[in-house]
Amino acid sequence: MTNSKLAVNGGDPVYEGNWPQWPLGDKSTEESLLKALYSGRWAISGPYLGEESFERKFSQAFSEFNKSEFCTPVSNGSSSLLSALIALGVGRGDEVIVPGLTWVACATTVLALGAKPVIVDVDLNNLCISPEKVKAAITEKTKAIMLVHAFGAVADLDAFKQMSQEEGIPLIEDCSQAHGAMWGDSFVGTIGAFGCFSMQQSKLLTSGEGGAVITNDPELYLRVEQARSDGRVFSSERMSGAIELKEVGEVQGHNMCLSEFQSAVLLEQLKKLESENKTREKNAKRLIKLLESVDGVESIEYFREGTSPVFYNFVLRFDLSMFESKSIDAISLALSQELNLFIRPIYRPMNEHPLYKPEKSFRHGLKERDEIMRGVDIPNAKLARETCLAFHHSALLTEDVDAMEKMVTAISKIKEFAVDIPDVENLAAI
Ligand SMILES: *Cc1c(COP(=O)(O)O)cnc(C)c1O
Repeated sequence: MTNSKLAVNGGDPVYEGNWPQWPLGDKSTEESLLKALYSGRWAISGPYLGEESFERKFSQAFSEFNKSEFCTPVSNGSSSLLSALIALGVGRGDEVIVPGLTWVACATTVLALGAKPVIVDVDLNNLCISPEKVKAAITEKTKAIMLVHAFGAVADLDAFKQMSQEEGIPLIEDCSQAHGAMWGDSFVGTIGAFGCFSMQQSKLLTSGEGGAVITNDPELYLRVEQARSDGRVFSSERMSGAIELKEVGEVQGHNMCLSEFQSAVLLEQLKKLESENKTREKNAKRLIKLLESVDGVESIEYFREGTSPVFYNFVLRFDLSMFESKSIDAISLALSQELNLFIRPIYRPMNEHPLYKPEKSFRHGLKERDEIMRGVDIPNAKLARETCLAFHHSALLTEDVDAMEKMVTAISKIKEFAVDIPDVENLAAI
């Protein structure tokens, strides 16, 4: 029997079980970390002591995982984008097309190099950047197209690959939310010039902070290697006690290196990624199936023909008219309380995002916000913000066979008693 009183109003919650913790340490990660600690080398810029660095070991393991030719570990996801942009020579006067609904780093890294982010709307079905709208936004100044495989759904790479070839504009695939997703037989990140990854705490593979850039192009690889280590690359001649990096300076680099500790963690965590992705997929499929019997709520389109998605934040789309037209923020609070799970609205559209402030960054030479934002019209991103909620992928690692059913029960309950959902002022309580 469903309790008629919503948990948000003091009633009994639908689910009081525990959701899995994220991230998870384990014995092998601990051992790897301790090995780095006592190795005498904590950075790739430390001396070579006869052992391959953890950074090189992770580079190789992540290349093998993705079936890419090359991998450059970097300090975080933002530096993966920055080093890819630097490697492509993006700078002042250039434009880079970025999604209108994603983390701000996609636009702010472009700004950081003095180039102009051109914000383009997303498709409503999977919330990835729209190929038609990207096509319409291309100008003579377009130096790169940055797409995001949003929430683990795979962007329309058929269209983007063709567009990139026809227009001669490189693609940067931001795979920060899609470690292990596939397009046909290829892993995401291997189709464009670069695949960029974040290994920040919330991501599917993490070392707290961390990142990587993969590519199949040997020249671009050497440029990214330099971009992230002040213009240096690994030397083929190494001598015990001496630094393993040699100076090249073909691009203006910066220090965006991943430490040995982070590499040691990633090396072990990577071994769990595939099985964790499978568990998440099993629960996600179950949830998607269960949602078929609920009017007014559906997931975004994860399973598109020819793609294998992964599940980062699981996104639910609401028909608010079936919830007494309550705001998505109010629904977020009510649903979170029923499930003892943090469920929240997704990104604000980039042109309204409080952390996207191009007018405060003068390197691009455009001084007025109006000038930078001219022509930015992203109604789908706005609608998605008003109608979607997401919960973290760790919930999909649950081993409780009833957990997905409870989610659907909770959704049905708040729908039935939607008139009682308190207004949004309470959101700050989360
Ligand atoms: C997390 C994320 C980033 C930024 O990664 P950091 O490691 O936080 O710098 C960039 N793009 C997308 C799509 C992300 O999800």
